[in-house]
Amino acid sequence: MSGPVAIWAALQGAVLEAFKPASAYGAPALIGALAVCALYYAGRRRARGRRLSVRGFVRSIFPKRILLHPSSLIDMRLWTLNGVALASAYGMLGLGLFFWRDEVVAGLTHGWGRHTPARWPAWTILTLATVLQLLASELAYWFAHYCFHKIPALWEFHKVHHSAEVMTTLTELRQHPVEIIAFMNLIGLSTGIVFGVMTYAFGPGVRPFTLLNGNILLMAFLVTYGHLRHSHMWIAFTGFPGRILQSPAHHQLHHSANPMHYDRNLGFALAVWDWAFGTLVIPARAREPIVFGVGAEAPPFRSAVAAFVVPCVRFAGHVGRFAAGWRRRAAAHGVASGAQTPFVIARELRQSKEL
Ligand SMILES: [Zn+2]
Ligand SMILES: [Zn+2]
Repeated sequence: MSGPVAIWAALQGAVLEAFKPASAYGAPALIGALAVCALYYAGRRRARGRRLSVRGFVRSIFPKRILLHPSSLIDMRLWTLNGVALASAYGMLGLGLFFWRDEVVAGLTHGWGRHTPARWPAWTILTLATVLQLLASELAYWFAHYCFHKIPALWEFHKVHHSAEVMTTLTELRQHPVEIIAFMNLIGLSTGIVFGVMTYAFGPGVRPFTLLNGNILLMAFLVTYGHLRHSHMWIAFTGFPGRILQSPAHHQLHHSANPMHYDRNLGFALAVWDWAFGTLVIPARAREPIVFGVGAEAPPFRSAVAAFVVPCVRFAGHVGRFAAGWRRRAAAHGVASGAQTPFVIARELRQSKEL
């Protein structure tokens, strides 16, 4: 295959992959989101005693002021880069569920010897795998998200996502590659541990109930209101459901520039880990006035290149200041061995205290 033909074939393959039915941007998820939008529109119009119209519906879910906002235009470029152009590269940089499952089975077999598979009814194993996979995936997502908020050097990467000033379904992929790769690997590790332990206990073939090749619970979220977490539609789960599930309004509060909402609602589909770790804020049933973005902290990224490059430069700045701080501490404690890395300095500091 000649060069241009090969590039065209690769591009076609990447686009088809991005829109395949099981993907987040496949027809089932987009049609599901549209259906929920239609119900939301009809409900709001009826509550105000107004009539319904197709034109009004299209205007309400695709308002020009949001779609053509500079922030939305950056979302489109980053979505194309992350969701199409770089998607297969990300796939190669992740150690997935199956890798970690096999490692865990090998480790457990090495440590405790072969295990005779427990004979539970198939439906109980399927149910357990479905629930545990979701909980493990959500825990990894919560933990990665918490780290990217709380560690200043990592926040530089996550700030790309939070710099969105308006939200559309494409904002989901307004992310820095470092963040995508980190989340993907942590989720692969956590779900791999679940399937490794379950495979050791119940034998090969452990799998969850599936819908469109994915965990049925996660896919149920994706093909209904999952896309609306990045939208202007205030759909709020309150009370007990608001402690279990992330509604679109939960995530909209997560993007709020109001300091009282910082570092809250870090889960993806579930709110249980936010509830457990004290990072949950339940939205009010009626729309809360929110300004999206990072406030005065940094000017918004005005190009996709800036969104990819600037965080790396700022990250290097944090690492440089961190290393300089360690060197100052080392000098203050009389460590003068010419040690250059924080790890070597830390070891020498420990030794100097022990001596
Ligand atoms: Zn965040
Ligand atoms: Zn978001």
